[in-house]
Amino acid sequence: MDNLSNISVIKDVLERHNFSFSKSLGQNFLVNPSVCPRIAEMGNAGDGFGVIEIGTGIGVLTSELAKRAEKVVAIEIDSRLMPVLEETLDEFDNIKIINDDVMNVDLHKLIRDEFEGLDVAVCANLPYYITSPIIMMLLEKRLPIKSITVMVQKEAGVRLCAKMGTRDVGAVTVAVNYFSEAKMLFNVSRGSFMPAPNVDSCVIRFDIKEHTPEGVSDEKHFFRVVRAAFSQRRKTLVNSVSSAIGLDKATVSDAVTKAGMPLTIRPEQMSMENFIAFSECLKELI
Ligand code: SAM
Repeated sequence: MDNLSNISVIKDVLERHNFSFSKSLGQNFLVNPSVCPRIAEMGNAGDGFGVIEIGTGIGVLTSELAKRAEKVVAIEIDSRLMPVLEETLDEFDNIKIINDDVMNVDLHKLIRDEFEGLDVAVCANLPYYITSPIIMMLLEKRLPIKSITVMVQKEAGVRLCAKMGTRDVGAVTVAVNYFSEAKMLFNVSRGSFMPAPNVDSCVIRFDIKEHTPEGVSDEKHFFRVVRAAFSQRRKTLVNSVSSAIGLDKATVSDAVTKAGMPLTIRPEQMSMENFIAFSECLKELI
């Protein structure tokens, strides 16, 4: 269907299907025609690429991806959208829709089954209630993908793209930096959505690293330490980690000193190398 991001076309389709927006599923659909082509182009949708989309809505981004990529597999949780998508994406023969929660889909299998011989990218206007869990799941699963391009709320985007050692860093930033190079691409105003949310958004891209940083002997332990470090914002590393992991302060202080940092250091001041050295020293002591 043409003009899928035209607001009167969208209203007409939704009305005919008796569709009402679900706030709890983060349903704010894009109605600004310039945004989806930009996401598709900057998100690696092109020759030789298969794209996984998360959350189709009525298919406005899905169709822009399908115009450019070899194949699109889109995962949408809301079964009420299935008849809508049958109508709006009718003209495409390179789209497969999976009606499921993305957190329940075996993405390794999906990539093996659907994208043989293709490079793979993920593109999505993510539902806001589950932004970080989806991004962490995509990164931690070590999927064979080139990039993840997502629209998120502005504040989340700033945290996800923060440079290590700056105030905006959180546990999710360390994970993002560990697995990828994050880039802020462009901002999208709240008026570009229906219904309009209370905040502006931005589009960011994670280019997946071929090799993760060296020196981490146990990733599970590393990320446990990172989460503990940020469990109490603005506290010192020693205080946060000792209370979150339940270790005495002397042990944590030993690990901080052994890792070559001052005892007063706060997690947001640490580099990736600092986190790696600290978690390795802590591992030896516990
Ligand atoms: N891509 C569309 C657009 O840009 O207009 C819709 C984006 S809307 C912000 C998020 C979409 O994700 C909704 O269609 C919602 O139903 C879907 N969704 C929410 N939670 C989901 C989940 N756990 N798995 C898959 N889709 C989900």
